[in-house]
Parts: sequence; C-alpha cells; structure tokens
Amino acid sequence: MEPTTKEYTNGEVTIVWQAHKCIHSANCVKNNPAVFQPKEKPWIKADASSTEKIIETINKCPSGALTYYRNDEKSS
Ligand code: SF4
Repeated sequence: MEPTTKEYTNGEVTIVWQAHKCIHSANCVKNNPAVFQPKEKPWIKADASSTEKIIETINKCPSGALTYYRNDEKSS
C-alpha cells in the first residue's frame, strides 16, 4: 500500500500528516481539539486555531506523523 500523506492549510502554515507513521497517541487531539478531530472528515481543521498553536501542537507529535511548513517558506 502506498504511504498516505495529506496536507491541510490555513493559508499561513501547512499541516502535513503521514497516516502510516501515526501511532494514535492522540497527543494532537488533546493539545488542540479544535483542529484535530479524528471523528470528522477531513479530520484536520486547519482554520480552527492560530498558526502558532498549530505549530506547538505538531511539535508534540511523538511519531513524526505530523509535520508542517510555513507557506511563505516553501517557495523560497
Ligand atoms: S499526535 Fe501524532 S501520532 Fe499522535 S495521534 Fe496525533 S498524529 Fe498520530
């Protein structure tokens, strides 16, 4: 099976989620339930909190399944 990578953006930051790396620790859900909603589709609501809070949450993901890039950095 191909690894699944999905991207979600709020216009400033892009959340990159690699499904095959996720160990379902739910750290993201606990830290930022407005954005990470596993029962919803899509499960990541990138618009639901500030960019800084999203980055802080991603930095707490223990598996590396969640990463991000700032949209203005990608083109440079
Ligand atoms: S914090 Fe990372 S490993 Fe844990 S559920 Fe969220 S994406 Fe998966």
